[in-house]
Amino acid sequence: MFLKDKISFYKVCFDSMQVGILVYNTSKEIVLANTPLSNIFGYTIDELLENKVNLLFKSNNLIDEFIKNPQKEKFKSAIELIGIIKNGDEINLEINFGKIEYENQCYFKALISDISLRKEKEKEILNLAAKLEEEVKLRTIELEDAIKHLKTSLDKEKELNHLKTKFITLASHEFKTPLSVILTSTELISKYSDLQLPKKRDAHVSKVKIMVNHLNGMLDDFLTLENIELGNIKPTYSYFKFNKLVKEIIKNTKPFLKNKQTITFENNNGEMIYQDSKILKIILTNLLYNAIKYSKEIGKINVKIDANNTHIYLTVNDDGIGIPDNEQNLIFNRFFRAKNAMFYPGTGIGLNIVKGYVNKLEGAISFKSIENEGTSFYVKLPKISSHE
Ligand code: ADP
Repeated sequence: MFLKDKISFYKVCFDSMQVGILVYNTSKEIVLANTPLSNIFGYTIDELLENKVNLLFKSNNLIDEFIKNPQKEKFKSAIELIGIIKNGDEINLEINFGKIEYENQCYFKALISDISLRKEKEKEILNLAAKLEEEVKLRTIELEDAIKHLKTSLDKEKELNHLKTKFITLASHEFKTPLSVILTSTELISKYSDLQLPKKRDAHVSKVKIMVNHLNGMLDDFLTLENIELGNIKPTYSYFKFNKLVKEIIKNTKPFLKNKQTITFENNNGEMIYQDSKILKIILTNLLYNAIKYSKEIGKINVKIDANNTHIYLTVNDDGIGIPDNEQNLIFNRFFRAKNAMFYPGTGIGLNIVKGYVNKLEGAISFKSIENEGTSFYVKLPKISSHE
């Protein structure tokens, strides 16, 4: 095929390229530029041909470096550069540099693509990825929290199951004596009724009552334990007279005193206090029952109350069997019973409940004990203001 005007055909081809073509000499004067290049930069081709390449780039370091050393490895692939267009805006460019020899003169060519759009997209993708990462992090934390929560519930559930199993073992042992007392007493009651012996019958009726109460108490303890475990206990505060409540509790426990046991009350407070009287009652009753149970037939028990501006104090002291030194650190553990207590009935729940309640009221409990000499328990509870 024969072309009449090869030059104009070359120009058409030159201008229809997908990339901008820039050719400059060693003095960096622009000698050739195609239409896509003029479109990228916003200059007319004539304007470009009157200028140096410096006009088109933010920095000319790479241009200079290429002129000096075109063989460099980095020029073998496309290079990214910031271009400046006619209105002064910056754009992202991708450039392939090359060297041309023509009539013993050295020229340089640069094939230039505007990659601003691609860069923008890349930035968007990076932002999106960062957001996604953040989201994943957040979700992971949420998931970890959920797992932790689930684990705590599961642990609680396990602990409760363990508690129930342990209680069944304990109860089947502890229930035996009262139940057999109830059985013999009821058998005797029917006999004594036949024999017209009302006094003896009444004595056994009251024995049955005591035993049933005892069993009931054990069941209550267990239910309390479960409620503390489940976090179901919430204090209910009200005003009451501290010493009056304590006196009443002492009176209620008196029927349980052994033969010659006595309870004295050191009453150092006549104030109205704002506290949970029900919880206070459970605490004191438990400590008193223990004092009665773990002291001799002629034991002396002393209850003392006190108060200052911030706290109320409760002490229960006995001269009973005491707690062995090497077991004292375990005394508030659930189901723990000291070796010297094994001959006495019990489940090892009471003190654990007391401790749970004292904690609920944000108080503190401690004790001093010497084996075979006696034990003192000290309870300290904050005075609550009704406005809190
Ligand atoms: P329980 O009396 O049913 O065994 P508690 O939880 O009330 O359970 O007490 C735990 C243990 O602490 C008792 O088994 C006993 O060894 C010891 N203990 C508690 N109070 C006294 C006390 N006043 N004197 C001696 N030991 C006591």
